[in-house]
Amino acid sequence: MPRLCEICQNSKAVLRRPKTAQRICKQCFYHVFETEVHNTIVDNQLFRRGDRVGIGASGGKDSTVLAYVMKTLNERHNYGLDLYLLSIDEGIAGYRDDSLETVKRNKEQYSLPLLIVSYEQLYGWSMDSIVEAVGRKNNCTFCGVFRRQALDRGALMLDLDHIVTGHNADDVAETILMNIFRGDLPRLGRCTEIATAGDGYIVRSKPFKYAYEKEIVMYAYFKKLDYFSTECTYSPNAYRGYAREFLKDLEAVRPSAILDIIYSGEAMQVAQDVQMPVAAQCERCGYISSNRVCKACTLLEGLERGVPKLGIARSAKASLEGVPDVAKRGGRTVERVHFDKLWENARRMRLERSENNTDVCTGSACAGVCNAQNTGSLTNM
Ligand SMILES: [Zn+2]
Ligand SMILES: [Zn+2]
Repeated sequence: MPRLCEICQNSKAVLRRPKTAQRICKQCFYHVFETEVHNTIVDNQLFRRGDRVGIGASGGKDSTVLAYVMKTLNERHNYGLDLYLLSIDEGIAGYRDDSLETVKRNKEQYSLPLLIVSYEQLYGWSMDSIVEAVGRKNNCTFCGVFRRQALDRGALMLDLDHIVTGHNADDVAETILMNIFRGDLPRLGRCTEIATAGDGYIVRSKPFKYAYEKEIVMYAYFKKLDYFSTECTYSPNAYRGYAREFLKDLEAVRPSAILDIIYSGEAMQVAQDVQMPVAAQCERCGYISSNRVCKACTLLEGLERGVPKLGIARSAKASLEGVPDVAKRGGRTVERVHFDKLWENARRMRLERSENNTDVCTGSACAGVCNAQNTGSLTNM
């Protein structure tokens, strides 16, 4: 006799849930997976009605499932969010160009507007050309720094209130372990937060913070979602690789290990005497930075002046002393739009929208009768 689903006791159990080891049916799996994400959103009050939310979309499994689930929950629970797909084109031939094709199909499949911003367009350098200049060793540093700022730039171009990313529980647990192994307390404090707001940044959050990677893969598989599964062609982050393997070993012995690490990370308090970086503005591009010049500007200056090691941790001694400036070398620079300008544009777009009165309440409770800006947070759904 086939085993019945442990939740509905009705349908045939077809899978064992990685998080709880329950044997359940497909419908119940969809239900528990989606409901847990909904609970994460509501419990943490991630959004407010009328928020313009960008889904950081790479075409990979996490962000594809996130786009699908965000759209589903927004409709099912009437969050009242305006959803957008926001993609970064790092300029990696044979990897990102293919995954962006997936995002373009997702745009049609989910009927969501899509904005793609590229490193080439923003910085004048694609990752392919950066790797040509710096080699394969440190290129992830460039990519990570540039991506963070590119997402903020894209978000301001769309005048978003909020960016959601597909980081899952495994990613968060790995990051906690890495920060412990490195003794990086400021980062340890921040990496467990579900949403980071900080002054000057667009709010970013991780609705999949408690969702297991294995369940995301399972969800994508059963729902037959269209995603791209190739790994980045450039060197993977070796240190994270070790943390990942270690975590997988722990999970194999005890599946709750992933959540337990996250709960432990959340409960840890950063001691008062740990010095936290103070935020200020980069004097060149206006981005938030704890230094006079932000990391992206430092890395770019190194690239432009042919000293690519500038700004990379282990080569702090690299300096520009005696290096002629770009014009003299015949090098190139790209005029980057200052963040003040981006903020100003975003504010103007917002004003225009409110004058056209497009952001009025569409809540099911009042059926639009109140005709008011509705900014209630999603706590009572
Ligand atoms: Zn069931
Ligand atoms: Zn800067």
